[in-house]
Amino acid sequence: MPPISAKQGDQFPEYDYLVIGGGSGGIASARRAAEHGAKVGLIEGTHRLGGTCVNVGCVPKKIMWYTADVADTLRKAAPYGFGNPEDAKKMYENFDWTTLKHKRDAYIKNLNGIYERNLLNSKVDEHQGWASFVDRNTVQIKQDDGTTYQVRAKNILIAVGGRPTIPSNETIPGASYGIDSDGFFDLETQPKRVAVVGAGYISVELAGVFNTLGTETHLIIRYDQVLRTFDPMLSDTLMPYMEKTGMKVHKSSHVKKVEKTSSGSLLVYVDSLDKPLEVDTLLWAIGRHSNTEKLNLKSVGVETNDKGDVVVDEYQVSTVPNIFAVGDVAGKYLLTPVAIAAGRRLSNRLFGPEKFKNQKLSYENIPSVVFSHPTIGTTGLTEPEARKKYGDENVKIYKTSFKAMSFAMVEDEHKQPTAYKLVCVGPEEKVVGLHIIGQGSDEMLQGFGVAVKMGATKEDFDSCVAIHPTSAEELVTLR
Ligand code: FAD
Ligand code: NDP
Repeated sequence: MPPISAKQGDQFPEYDYLVIGGGSGGIASARRAAEHGAKVGLIEGTHRLGGTCVNVGCVPKKIMWYTADVADTLRKAAPYGFGNPEDAKKMYENFDWTTLKHKRDAYIKNLNGIYERNLLNSKVDEHQGWASFVDRNTVQIKQDDGTTYQVRAKNILIAVGGRPTIPSNETIPGASYGIDSDGFFDLETQPKRVAVVGAGYISVELAGVFNTLGTETHLIIRYDQVLRTFDPMLSDTLMPYMEKTGMKVHKSSHVKKVEKTSSGSLLVYVDSLDKPLEVDTLLWAIGRHSNTEKLNLKSVGVETNDKGDVVVDEYQVSTVPNIFAVGDVAGKYLLTPVAIAAGRRLSNRLFGPEKFKNQKLSYENIPSVVFSHPTIGTTGLTEPEARKKYGDENVKIYKTSFKAMSFAMVEDEHKQPTAYKLVCVGPEEKVVGLHIIGQGSDEMLQGFGVAVKMGATKEDFDSCVAIHPTSAEELVTLR
């Protein structure tokens, strides 16, 4: 167990700021408040700081994406003159999931330690235990051995994040034989056959990892497209490539029942298939919900919506003036940088100098990446959203699709697709949406995100000299 800076029996002051949840939003907000001189306490229920992103989200997921990316690169080795296809195939087949998993766990453990030290250095008191409200200024902390104690604070931040949703066994008999994204990171060995249910970020990303690493991968989606809330070009480009690379996408499909066989495999009954799918692992990736049930919020007057998210205003204030919420628990843009940005701005506003007194996070034009194969980057309005908002006559679309030069030496079957779209409005052709899919989109988006946030027009894009030869140059030469 890591050292905890505050423990039961200690005398605690009444904190200026008490943060519930040691994840992306909570840690960022707590440290920023302490930097401004506030006396801060932070409560984390688990024994690992960093929350979802560090422990069972962005970070280990990105390691797995990099792993799959190496596999993709191996496929390019022989065409680029490194040995022959058999050498690459052997390396690919010798991939050792178990060793990688343990290295990944060690990397995360090291990050947990860094977070501990950062809190300590920022002079934030860390409390280990599960928090619930006693009154509007008092929180009870319950530790794993059942002991409880209370701490008091003038201001309290709820940053408890969320957890994966899994259907109940009553809704889908045998659903609990499946795992969720947390379970994905516990897998000690690579499943030979997997079924992934869901059509959002997590299903696309994790199915992509499995498929690229050679697991027989079935993706079960309720409609005809993945990522339905994204610009349609992205899914139209991604899905055929997923299928071309061997992923079996079962469209308009619903899991009806799951059974476990005597050998331990799972039979997944899907309404669109005549026979059940036999797989080693079933992974539910159908969304997440907030960790608000056990906080006793109702008794202190903090309202939640029908999804369990804390209702906040644009300044992250809940229905109780000294209680705030940021990050996934506030239900808007479930992304780490959003939680961090909202948390820091809130602390600036509450404890910082006068110039920050009105600071809040703008939720417009938030860039986001899906770590699919190839990656997707998106910011601003989708084409349908822009047409709805501004009218067809005011929207101009620029788009292109091509095969990136990086695949020039590679056989057709391994060439990844690239497609870019700019959504522009009005006579000045302001860029209100930018959507890209193709190798490198993840690293390209940030800079273009700045341009869109600044209100760049198509002319501004055109006025920037292209960098050649790159894929990104296509975005400033669109006609
Ligand atoms: P969390 O990070 O979830 O932190 C909440 C903390 O509160 C947890 O440590 C929890 O243990 C603690 N807690 C809960 N209840 C209590 C309580 N009662 N008392 C005390 N402590 C409590 N986002 C990206 O931007 N990029 C990505 O690539 C990305 N990939 C992801 C991949 C996966 C598989 C998943 C699941 C998520 C991913 N996300 C990604 C989303 C990102 O992880 C979240 O948006 C982010 O972690 C939210 O931060 P948070 O502070 O709101 O909550
Ligand atoms: P999402 O909400 O993104 O996607 C889940 C999807 O699953 C839904 O959009 C829906 O799509 C489908 N679905 C919902 N209910 C069911 C059901 N009962 N049966 C079958 N399918 C269903 O959730 P995720 O769990 O993928 O991810 C949660 C959040 O975490 C994301 O929204 C994102 O904010 C964050 N995240 C960010 C990442 C990144 O930045 N790269 C990576 C991973 C997560 P449909 O309606 O089309 O069926």
